Amino acid sequence: MKPTEKADMKYTNQRVEILTFLREHDGHPTVDEVYDGVRQKLTRISKATVYKNLKFLTGKGLLEEVNVKGVSRFEANFIPHHHLICRECGSMEDFNSEQLLDYSMKIAEEIEGFTIVSTSTNFYGICKKCKESMGSKESKKFEENT
Ligand SMILES: [Zn+2]
Ligand SMILES: [Zn+2]
Repeated sequence: MKPTEKADMKYTNQRVEILTFLREHDGHPTVDEVYDGVRQKLTRISKATVYKNLKFLTGKGLLEEVNVKGVSRFEANFIPHHHLICRECGSMEDFNSEQLLDYSMKIAEEIEGFTIVSTSTNFYGICKKCKESMGSKESKKFEENT
């Protein structure tokens, strides 16, 4: 066994916990959220370790990393789907549309020299929560800007 493999073994338990957390929380947790979650079980884990493990698992193809407003979010859902991303709070919701997947893949067939295996579309906007909390004052500001 190579020394690097030995080091990998040490992290196996942590990685299992992180993966379990992500599979149970089908949102798109940030590093902080994953850290808060796994800390319940692995009380001595550091945020840096959580981050390192998340990167490792992403590299191994066990997680998907999505960057929203400069914040990394992770998910373990590999069923092709789309995302609704809020420009205000950076929240992210899954959006399923078989129709859109089919359509994108059909377009992809026309792309030469690149084999497409999957597709995902990001929709950007303002989530319901932000819209509600903005109130009339903010919406007025929006009108002035347009
Ligand atoms: Zn929002
Ligand atoms: Zn998702």
